[in-house]
Amino acid sequence: MSHVLVVGIDGATFDLIRPWAREGNLPNLARMMREGAQGLLESTIPPVTSPAWPTFATGKNSGKHGVFDFILPTGAKFELVNATSIQAPTLWQLLSEGGRTAGVMNVPVTDPPTPRNGFIVGGMLSPVGATFTYPANLLDRYASQLGPYRIAPHVQYKQGRAAEFAADLLEMVDRRGAYALQLMADHHCDFLMFHFQATDIAQHALWKYVDPAHPQYDPEAAAAFGPTVRQIYERIDSYIGAMTDRLSDDTTVIVMSDHGFGPLHYVVNLNLLFMDHGLLRLKPGAWTRLRAGLFRAGMTPASIWHLIERAGLQNYVWQVSKSTRNKVVGRFLSFDDVDWSRTLAFSLGHVGQVYINRRDTQPEGIVSNGAEYEAVRQQVVEALGQLKHPITGHPLVDRVLMGDEVAHGPFSSRGPDLHVVMDGFRTIAFPLFAADSRVVTRQIRGDSGCHRLHGIFVAWGAEVRQGVTLEGARIVDLAPTILHLMGLPVPEDMDGRVLDEAIAHARPVQFSSVGPETGKATGLSSEEAAEVEARLHALGYLG
Ligand SMILES: [Zn+2]
Repeated sequence: MSHVLVVGIDGATFDLIRPWAREGNLPNLARMMREGAQGLLESTIPPVTSPAWPTFATGKNSGKHGVFDFILPTGAKFELVNATSIQAPTLWQLLSEGGRTAGVMNVPVTDPPTPRNGFIVGGMLSPVGATFTYPANLLDRYASQLGPYRIAPHVQYKQGRAAEFAADLLEMVDRRGAYALQLMADHHCDFLMFHFQATDIAQHALWKYVDPAHPQYDPEAAAAFGPTVRQIYERIDSYIGAMTDRLSDDTTVIVMSDHGFGPLHYVVNLNLLFMDHGLLRLKPGAWTRLRAGLFRAGMTPASIWHLIERAGLQNYVWQVSKSTRNKVVGRFLSFDDVDWSRTLAFSLGHVGQVYINRRDTQPEGIVSNGAEYEAVRQQVVEALGQLKHPITGHPLVDRVLMGDEVAHGPFSSRGPDLHVVMDGFRTIAFPLFAADSRVVTRQIRGDSGCHRLHGIFVAWGAEVRQGVTLEGARIVDLAPTILHLMGLPVPEDMDGRVLDEAIAHARPVQFSSVGPETGKATGLSSEEAAEVEARLHALGYLG
């Protein structure tokens, strides 16, 4: 009966790992890929951290666990998701109830932590100051020796701050690696999982320095800052090596990511497109008209932000009051200006998530189910078809997936009604309202990378078949695979399958009837929500 160690590398991609592994920079990953099984790992639609990790943890699609994004939108308002939003049993709950011990560190959407047979350290959505570990004092005794545990980066990426940004991220990796090794030494869990976030953050900001084909590639800057992304992978690789040195022989090691990564070229203000097509309308008030006029004249959150940046005030704005920037942005066009009584569709989310203003899901919904809903969806598809690539003139939209093609289950109506894939994910939607007055624009924040559908899967250990390349593995397959490896039955309502082509001595999969109940969803306090929202803004996920 195997033990399992999972190392989650957020946003890790074989496009970077394979060449670096060949060149000898990632000796531990290279060895695991050579001696184990590997393959692309299909993420969720959208390929976003927040739905992807709960899908990993539950082995179920978003329609069954209820988490579709960082947020749960209801008209003009949205709530942040947390662990209690996950309406399906997690792997750690199933292991714990199956009599196994599980230790989980930093996986997104694991906070607030629930008592388990083992330990939990909350991930990127944990509010600072709140209890983010179980047991509550889990990390206290390490702080004096290792320094305080770190959840989020201290330095936000800006042009001219790349060196400081890089040093901070490398320190965050080291801090997390040191805590991971310490927890491994002190807690002999049957299942262990450690997650590194820095790859995702670095790739968002620095992709243009590792990709000579990127429109913003600059060889001089690339020589200076390109190595940062590789160094982050190298450090994580060395921690993987240190972890595997400490493992028992019956441990299966899985290294995986929640989505892949690639270049970001353009951002689309889908809500502006919808305004142009009469799908989204503003309130008729004079102030709104004035703001809309300013907005059309180019005075937008983005241009205001550029003014602040040019005046050198951004650090002041950011550090003195985290909400100041949002207040500045909020003075201009926002969802508060939307006339919901005349709005049929809106976009919220940073890949291409589109919601129909439905009577049965939105507080001020006007679209009825059935023929009317189908007609509005069709209007949205036609509007999206008008989007053209600014350089090639080709259609920008590759695919529009209907919400019910992507998610099925009791919570499927919480999710987007349509998902838009643009230019192979090189173009994404602006998270909230607008970046500037153009529909298709360069982004405001300096991000040059964004998510891709395919992340990585590598498995290694005595129970893993050597030299296998997996085809068609999905993130939803990992929970059933791990339960099976650990000798536990797979709940039959999981959507994933056991990846038995990767297992050396395949044995029949045992299934169990539906898993245990989950707790009730509870939100954050308003202060906690404001703080986590500010963090998501800083990471670019909320604009
Ligand atoms: Zn991610």
